[in-house]
Amino acid sequence: SAAHLAAPLSPGATIGIVGGGQLGRMLAGAAARLGLKTAVLDPDPACPAAQLANRIIAAAYDDASALEALCGACEVVTYEFENVPVEAMRAVGAQRPVYPPVEALEVAQDRVTEKAFLNGIGIATAAWRAVDEPAELAHALLDLSGDCILKTRRLGYDGKGQAALKAGAPIEGVFESLGAVPAILEKRVAFEREVSVIAARALDGTVEAYDLAENEHRVGILRRSTVPARAGADIAAQAGEIAGRILARLNYVGVIGVEFFLTREGALLVNEIAPRVHNSGHWTEAACAVSQFEQHIRAVAGWPLGRTTRHSDCVMENLIGEEVLKAFAILSEPDAVLTLYGKGEARQGRKMGHVTRLTGPAPR
Ligand code: ADP
Ligand code: MG
Repeated sequence: SAAHLAAPLSPGATIGIVGGGQLGRMLAGAAARLGLKTAVLDPDPACPAAQLANRIIAAAYDDASALEALCGACEVVTYEFENVPVEAMRAVGAQRPVYPPVEALEVAQDRVTEKAFLNGIGIATAAWRAVDEPAELAHALLDLSGDCILKTRRLGYDGKGQAALKAGAPIEGVFESLGAVPAILEKRVAFEREVSVIAARALDGTVEAYDLAENEHRVGILRRSTVPARAGADIAAQAGEIAGRILARLNYVGVIGVEFFLTREGALLVNEIAPRVHNSGHWTEAACAVSQFEQHIRAVAGWPLGRTTRHSDCVMENLIGEEVLKAFAILSEPDAVLTLYGKGEARQGRKMGHVTRLTGPAPR
């Protein structure tokens, strides 16, 4: 059975973070500002979060003695990415509260489970079919008809593990090109735009959501988030209601990111959910009094959530690979808030940092 937090953490207490990438790093920074400590588990002792955490446990995510050490070092455990093994987190959960709950991790790390969960609670998604074997692909394509995208069920991120399938084009070798692993076929949504909401749920069930961000991707990687999104108040309310339904159903504690397609007909479809802080919420650090990182730390510490009010309009841009070379010029820009992740090598496609440009006061 899963452990639960009996009382709010005291300042000076330690939060365990599984995963030491940039999200773990920014969580560690937010925790430190609130007088909380962090212990990070990551296979790489030089991971971005190691530079800010109080303690780094360098080991594989399923290393039993490392998980034991993590539990011994902290009072509550959270995670910064959804590909942590569920069994490992369940073992941790018997000793320490794990927030967001392991069920959220389980739902989000498999695209078929995720879509079945969403549809099961009345939330619309792109039409989809599970494709476990190559022979099922042709039938699924006929079923969905039109342009589709084949995605691996697990371990995809930043557009990796996906293949576009044009209507009628040959499918020979496509399943194999993704590694011949269980997959999902999704109908390609002709969306007007992509938007996302960052929401949080506290231990007492209180929910807060930030304003919608409008997201642009390039080759599957988030390029830019603009706030406010071009979407009416009705769409924003609908997105908030959908996020709230997901949070309640998962008995969630912490921050969640929900990605949507807004169709030309004005329908809102959920693309995917991320049981963690999310790249499309980085703008909150520059344009809100309480960032998504602080909000997540507050939630998992059993503390009250902060207000999600936005004081500025803004545009967040990722610095990917060589784009990090722009960082120095950005330092001279007024109203630009620069964040670098402390990664050594600017490999192609690697998220190195981001900048949020404040573009004016938010209307009151
Ligand atoms: P990842 O886990 O890599 O973020 P996503 O499923 O969010 O995977 O896909 C990345 C991007 O690819 C989306 O933000 C969107 O731009 C595009 N995409 C994914 N699925 C669809 C779809 N069914 N229809 C249209 N575009 C899609
Ligand atoms: Mg995505």
